[in-house]
Amino acid sequence: MLRRRIITASLLLALLVPYAALAQTPAPAVYTAPKDAIDKIRDEGMNRSQVMQTLSYMTDVIGGRLTGSPNMKRANEWTRDKMKEWGMQNAHLESWGPFGRGWAVRKFSAAMVEPQFTPLISYPRAWSPSTKGVVTSDVVYLDAKAPEDLAKYKGQLKGKIVLSSAERPLKPVEKAYLNRLSEEDLSRLASAPQPTDDGDVIPAQALKNFTKSLNDGAKRLKFLSDEGAAVVIHNSGGGSGGTIFVDGANVGVETPEIKTIEELFESPAFQPQNKKYEANMLPQITMATEDYNRLVRMIKLGAKPKMSVEIDSQYYDEDPNGYNTIAEIPGTDPKLKDEVVMLGAHLDSWHSGTGATDNGAGSAAVMEAARIIQASGLKPRRTIRVALWSGEEQGLYGSTNYVKQHFGEKRNGTIVKGRDYDKLSAYYNLDNGTGKIRGVYMQGNPNVRPFFETWLAPFADAGAKTLTLSNTGGTDHLPFDAIGLPGFQFIQDPVEYNTRTHHSNQDNFDRIQADDMKQAATIIAAFVYQTAMMDEKLPKKSRPLP
Ligand SMILES: [Zn+2]
Repeated sequence: MLRRRIITASLLLALLVPYAALAQTPAPAVYTAPKDAIDKIRDEGMNRSQVMQTLSYMTDVIGGRLTGSPNMKRANEWTRDKMKEWGMQNAHLESWGPFGRGWAVRKFSAAMVEPQFTPLISYPRAWSPSTKGVVTSDVVYLDAKAPEDLAKYKGQLKGKIVLSSAERPLKPVEKAYLNRLSEEDLSRLASAPQPTDDGDVIPAQALKNFTKSLNDGAKRLKFLSDEGAAVVIHNSGGGSGGTIFVDGANVGVETPEIKTIEELFESPAFQPQNKKYEANMLPQITMATEDYNRLVRMIKLGAKPKMSVEIDSQYYDEDPNGYNTIAEIPGTDPKLKDEVVMLGAHLDSWHSGTGATDNGAGSAAVMEAARIIQASGLKPRRTIRVALWSGEEQGLYGSTNYVKQHFGEKRNGTIVKGRDYDKLSAYYNLDNGTGKIRGVYMQGNPNVRPFFETWLAPFADAGAKTLTLSNTGGTDHLPFDAIGLPGFQFIQDPVEYNTRTHHSNQDNFDRIQADDMKQAATIIAAFVYQTAMMDEKLPKKSRPLP
């Protein structure tokens, strides 16, 4: 799931929530597959699951999958080959266009070396340049809340290792890390009204504040760069007890006023992967808050800590393109086999963990859903297509460009249909962690309610029974939804997604819940199969195309 530290929750929602639908149209007859077919799916998914093996290889052996990195390439190829091995057809890597450069860490260390040796929990930020060998230097705390406060450090930072964020007070963790949706949470979702948000309207003040915060950060980094600082250290924005949240490096270039989501993703703050900004970045790391706060307190008490830092990172410029992994189960109905039901998840991750819950879990679950259908010997009428996206974490690039290339795009408020627009029935996405499925976000489309109600019914005993008209954002169903195609993300139990794993160094296989994974893959398989078997395509939102 995409969520940059610098975006306020409300702004992200405003940017990503699509427009509202109009009133419900009369529902067509609701298709439901014979009980025998759903029983087969459930038996294969719950009793002969391979989802944990798939996920373990993807995370433990391949590892973190930053878009453009050698690991991402390996993950693309491995998932393609695995789905081919399961008997799926047309398995291939599909370029979605230029992304930028790849990056990986070859070697990294960070320790306090004076007044005593102490290793420090930290990670390089993605696309950080290398240090010039091992840098051993004084640590300086940049106590500057606003750009105006920077001047007092002029002439003092050359070659220094700079603590550039504020201290972050930590409190004892009172609530459990584990969170599952309660009956109350679910009924609140179920009774949510038809969304009225219009994705084209971004609150002007929020946008102004956001641009200012981006530019304050850019000014700060530019100042450090002009002053010749050697390394910049950021305090982890969340987590404690060794959990740190790490994403992309900051770029010391200000952005003009941002008006659209495209401008947001194109702004320098979102483009450390763009080669043209290499000279505008300093070597930078994120540090665990306990270690960071200690260094700040030492300095405030008059101690003079020194650190040694080495970042040896590698850029990859040979192939600037990003790739999605695609594979299909061909449809068998001569009249319907050219139509498609898609299921997908983003395969890319941030780099400090192994991207298990974000989003190895979703990737393994949708692969497993296809394997279940295949292994059950069921013959879908429409073609079922799995898509494993990349570039999601930097701006939903893989899915957005795929949708543009195949289905169409919105230009100046008008939907321009692509060649396959009328062939897609629905897209189902999984990207909210390891938690089991509790229902579906209908994304403001009441026309799908009778179908989804019927299809969820066999899984009420597995905890999946809630439909909400609410939109949900931050992931790869949005580009489909934005051009009026039915695109959905399931409601999932958060488990530890928001408390521990999402974009952290603790996003690893140990945080994955096997029973939840099996349940999710099984339900996705059933939804995809049902959609592939209907006489008609799944109904779209009832509104004229703008
Ligand atoms: Zn994410």
